[in-house]
Amino acid sequence: MFEKSINAYEEAKQVIPGGVDSPVRAFTSVGGTPPFIDRGEGAYLIDIDGNKYLDFVQSWGPLIFGHCNEEIEKAVIETVKKGLSFGAPSVLETELASEIVEMYDHIDKVRFVSSGTEATMSAIRLARGVTGRNDIIKFVGNYHGHSDSLLVQAGSGLATFGTPSSPGVPADLTKHTIVCEYNNLEDLRKCFEQSNDIACVIMEPIAGNMGLVPASAEFLKECRELCDKNGTLLILDEVMTGFRTSLTGAHGLIDVKGDIITFGKVIGAGMPVGAFAASKEIMGHLSPDGAVYQAGTLSGNPVAMAAGLTSLRKLKANPEIYEELNKKAVRLTSGLKKVAEDNGIGLQVDTRGSMFGFFFADKMPTNFKEVSEYCNFERFGKFHHEMIKRGFYFACSQYEAGFMCTVITDEMIDECIAAANEVMKTL
Ligand SMILES: *Cc1c(COP(=O)(O)O)cnc(C)c1O
Repeated sequence: MFEKSINAYEEAKQVIPGGVDSPVRAFTSVGGTPPFIDRGEGAYLIDIDGNKYLDFVQSWGPLIFGHCNEEIEKAVIETVKKGLSFGAPSVLETELASEIVEMYDHIDKVRFVSSGTEATMSAIRLARGVTGRNDIIKFVGNYHGHSDSLLVQAGSGLATFGTPSSPGVPADLTKHTIVCEYNNLEDLRKCFEQSNDIACVIMEPIAGNMGLVPASAEFLKECRELCDKNGTLLILDEVMTGFRTSLTGAHGLIDVKGDIITFGKVIGAGMPVGAFAASKEIMGHLSPDGAVYQAGTLSGNPVAMAAGLTSLRKLKANPEIYEELNKKAVRLTSGLKKVAEDNGIGLQVDTRGSMFGFFFADKMPTNFKEVSEYCNFERFGKFHHEMIKRGFYFACSQYEAGFMCTVITDEMIDECIAAANEVMKTL
């Protein structure tokens, strides 16, 4: 039943490292062959063998309206007919920027790029340029893309300067990145004592890259205060949470404002778009207005802008969507928790807007170390595999969040819970 995917995977591996263009797609942490996808249809993915899956990944977040939304598709096709790219300004960029600016009262200007990685990398350069400082603070288990300064692991301990977490990253670069434990106030204070040259703190205010692990209100507040006291800028990475957790992203759910916000995923609705945004004072440092250099041949691509614009306008016109999506996320996670417990299995669950997470653990983890220590990865791997076989597509790692979309119905969720009940019996 996976024959074509198995063959396709073998062929892909001949010409693409690991057969994939982004490592998580290889299913390394859960085993098995990744289904090769032929197409999406609303809430479902259909693979090249014809298997159909209820999709809780939604391209890792961008597709809040599910696959092939009619209006987004129409906007894209109309724009495509006028040309794919001009390398010159188009009004679609201004329109999408205006939609974003309108939602965040402390943001005046937006610069578009083509990925979340580019957004965070550029935001850090901007923060360094504005402050004239070199060091940055990053939290373990927060993911901000794959740029050099951010591929770090804790050096000899936490609250110290990091060492590269990947070959190919010079230690000369990561020595400017101080690594801190998430949700650990004491550690955060220690980090600020390490250097008086800290340009910025970069954080996921609601982490979705170690499973769903929100920052505590206390931690966010202290982080903001320490930044203010030290003349350090706070970059809130909303690449995943932006227009996902609420109409104003994590910002709408927390009490703290970032100096620079990064976006991606939902703002492109499935097309490659990222962005970073800040006050006009901060953004004024960016070229061509200021001296901090940043550029992109395909940045603000009209087709991508049209997709994002249509999606954001639909969200704004229907703000009740977030409430409905959260209800569905709660229905799913509380259902999974119940069938797990009925079968004597501990499951920790949480949701933020349309994002959800579940851990095979007896205690709720609050940082990366606890996720690694508390969670049963073998059990997750089996669960994932059995659910795929039954037509339910969850993120292929316990370190990933899940995503609800508007076309997933209560009935589909209940089918998923019923299937999970059968699977839990075997775990
Ligand atoms: C996905 C993600 C990124 C990286 O975005 P890419 O488009 O994959 O480069 C950065 N930050 C966060 C919080 C993300 O979830």
